[in-house]
Amino acid sequence: MSLDLWLEAHPYLRPLAELVTLVERAAAEVEVQSARIPEFDDYRADFLGGVPLLSSAAAAVDLEPAGRMAMALLERLSSSTAPEWLGNDTRALARELGRDPQAGRRIAEFLQGDETVTPPFPGLLRYLGWTAMARYLRPVGTAFGAWRNEEKWLRRYCPTCGSLPAMAQLIGVEPGRMRLLSCGCCGTRWQFKRTGCPFCEADSQRLASVTLEGEPFPRIDHCEPCGGYLKTYNGQGDEALLLSDWSSVHLDVIARDRGLKRLAVSLYDFDAARAS
Ligand SMILES: [Zn+2]
Ligand SMILES: [Zn+2]
Repeated sequence: MSLDLWLEAHPYLRPLAELVTLVERAAAEVEVQSARIPEFDDYRADFLGGVPLLSSAAAAVDLEPAGRMAMALLERLSSSTAPEWLGNDTRALARELGRDPQAGRRIAEFLQGDETVTPPFPGLLRYLGWTAMARYLRPVGTAFGAWRNEEKWLRRYCPTCGSLPAMAQLIGVEPGRMRLLSCGCCGTRWQFKRTGCPFCEADSQRLASVTLEGEPFPRIDHCEPCGGYLKTYNGQGDEALLLSDWSSVHLDVIARDRGLKRLAVSLYDFDAARAS
C-alpha cells in the first residue's frame, strides 16, 4: 500500500498528509543530537518493575537535547514557507518558549507530561516535540528493542515513554499469532495479550470489532466496559503508513461518532480544522 494509493482512497486525508510531509521534511533538516544508549543492566530492575525507560532514573536518558531539537524545528517552521497558520503558531511558540534559557529542558518536561509547562498551542507543540523526540530516540529505541524481553513486559503502556497505545497490530499465523500495541508518541511497538483491553484491562469477552466496508484495515477494536478503542492493523509490511496514526484519523472520527473514547494521546488533534 503506497501513500498515493491510500490518499486516493481517502482524499480527505490529503491536507493532513501534506502537513505531515512538510513537518517531516523540516525535522530531517534539524541536526540530530546523539542520544547516549543507556546501560540496560542498570535499568533491568526498573524494567521488571514496570518503569518505562524514559522515566527510569537508573537508565538516565537525557531528553534535554531532544527538547533543543524541537526548538530548532519550531524555528525552522516559523521561518519557512509553511502555511500561514503554522508559521504564526510556531512563531508564537518559539517566542514564548525562547524566553526561557532552559527551553529544551522545559519542552522535554512538557512532552513527559509536566503540567506546569503551559505553552500556547500545546497540541501543536506535542506533535512537533514528539516528531523531534522520536528522531532523537531512534538509536535508543533500536537498542532497547534488541535488549528487551517482550514476555517480561506485556503491560498496557509503552515500555519506552509510558504512553497508552494509539494503535495495535495483529501479526503472525496461528498458533503464534500475536498482538502488538503501538505508541502514538515515540513509535515503540510492544507485545500485549491477544484480546483484552489495554485501557481498563477488561477480559477478552468484551472486545468487539468494527470493520468499515471496503476498508480492510485498520479496523476499530473497542471495549464495552470502558468505551476505549484501538485502531488495529491486521497485517504486516505497511507499518510506516498504517500505524502512523495520522493515516487513520478518519477512524477516530467514526469511533467518536459511535460514542467511543480515544484514551490515548493523539498528536494530530491540535486542531483538525487548521489542516483542512
Ligand atoms: Zn512510547
Ligand atoms: Zn476497556
